[in-house]
Amino acid sequence: MRAFRRQHASFRYYGELNDFLPPFRRFVSISHGFELPASVKDMIESMGVPHTEVDLILHDGTPVDFAHLVQNGDRISVFPTFRALDVSPVLQLRPRLQDHHFILDSHLGRLATYLRLLGFDALYRNDFEDAELARASHCEQRVLLTRDRGLLKRNEVIYGYFIRATEARRQAVEVLRRFGLSSSIAPFCRCLRCNVLLNPVAKESVIERLQPKTRRYYDEFRICPACNRLFWDGCKRRSKNRSQYAAGAAFCGGVKVVRRNLVS
Ligand SMILES: [Zn+2]
Repeated sequence: MRAFRRQHASFRYYGELNDFLPPFRRFVSISHGFELPASVKDMIESMGVPHTEVDLILHDGTPVDFAHLVQNGDRISVFPTFRALDVSPVLQLRPRLQDHHFILDSHLGRLATYLRLLGFDALYRNDFEDAELARASHCEQRVLLTRDRGLLKRNEVIYGYFIRATEARRQAVEVLRRFGLSSSIAPFCRCLRCNVLLNPVAKESVIERLQPKTRRYYDEFRICPACNRLFWDGCKRRSKNRSQYAAGAAFCGGVKVVRRNLVS
């Protein structure tokens, strides 16, 4: 049996990619041993970092893609998304998304509600299988949001993000910051249950469905074309009578709270 000579390459991870490394490997050069050349994607993920978190890989200072075969003695630098710097001319890993549409794994139902509340397209079902999530993310160019690293390591997943926070409102703030979405918030436009865009509806045409105080204090209403639920902007007056449903989200650093009401 042929014996392979042990080879080594050095890896250095930058920024929040260190979240995925054990403490003793963070922010230092890591000597990674291997016997056969493998793709840089495989090596990065073998160290615990999902490829979806990586935005730029440099091999001895030159950008390379995920298929780059790591050789003995290579020096690899691995970067997360650059927020303050436009490095798009050197990015080789995936095209930049113009608009962000999301798909969430089955453990992130409350986050899905918050994202819809803020107006973002957030596809969610509590019975999605991992393969369905990966396929839909790939086919519809949706960013897969999950706390499952293994899911993000699937080759099919091009756009994804590992949610660090465990509490739903913090998760929403994290997503807004990570994808720079604060200026795209458009509350009161998407059904919290169906994820479809709401249509404006005249108060007169739905007045029979409204509670007395809602009738008195609110004039603008929207309706979901899928489930027929009715929404109005609870920000304008904080009603104590929140009938069947109310949701709130802290966003933009927890500065502002938005509330929406709904009746079936
Ligand atoms: Zn609906």
